[in-house]
Amino acid sequence: MTELSALSAVPSGARDAVLKFYFGPMDCGKSTLALQMNYNHGRQGRRGLVLTKHDRSGGPKVTSRIGLGLQAIEVEDSLDLVRLVTAKDRIDYLICDEACFYSVEQIEQLADLVDDHGVDVYAFGLASDFRSVMFPAAQRLFELADEVCRLQVEVLCWCGRPGQLNARIVGGSMARTGEQVVIGDTDASRVRYQVLCRRHHRSGRLGEGPHASL
Ligand SMILES: [Zn+2]
Repeated sequence: MTELSALSAVPSGARDAVLKFYFGPMDCGKSTLALQMNYNHGRQGRRGLVLTKHDRSGGPKVTSRIGLGLQAIEVEDSLDLVRLVTAKDRIDYLICDEACFYSVEQIEQLADLVDDHGVDVYAFGLASDFRSVMFPAAQRLFELADEVCRLQVEVLCWCGRPGQLNARIVGGSMARTGEQVVIGDTDASRVRYQVLCRRHHRSGRLGEGPHASL
């Protein structure tokens, strides 16, 4: 039974579900937080699903850690997230890793799950691509989320400043143009990704040391 508050006419005791977006550059601890959040909610008896998209262009450790640590559901382009969740018995929350690579339509579906089905959604991902241009899904999350959090950056640029932006390095130099999503950081690939501060992302200086230009 719910009571109505005289002031707001909103049933008291009802808690709206939330859509939260946690963003940061690759290697900033997004996967760790996603796993920790899943663990914490699970311990409280809440039932959740962990989703990811195995797109290694942003940060391979994020996806591989999630994939190793937990049974995660692969978010194919054709996957309807509302259908996925409503087909289950009871789902209280979703952990959405690599949400920047979901389709914009899938972000809308996440908002539907929050508003129409009372599912809490915790989305994690990159905000921007190698050009420092926002991913469409990340932009939609910024527009729709109840709360947006920039994650504490543990990753530093070679100069020691906080790393904010992902650079795509092709054959040793920083790329400014190209496809938004390109898989890198594999043995066979000439493409790799490096986190830089804003200053050095804009100037394109890659520094010396282990990540220096080959
Ligand atoms: Zn720097």
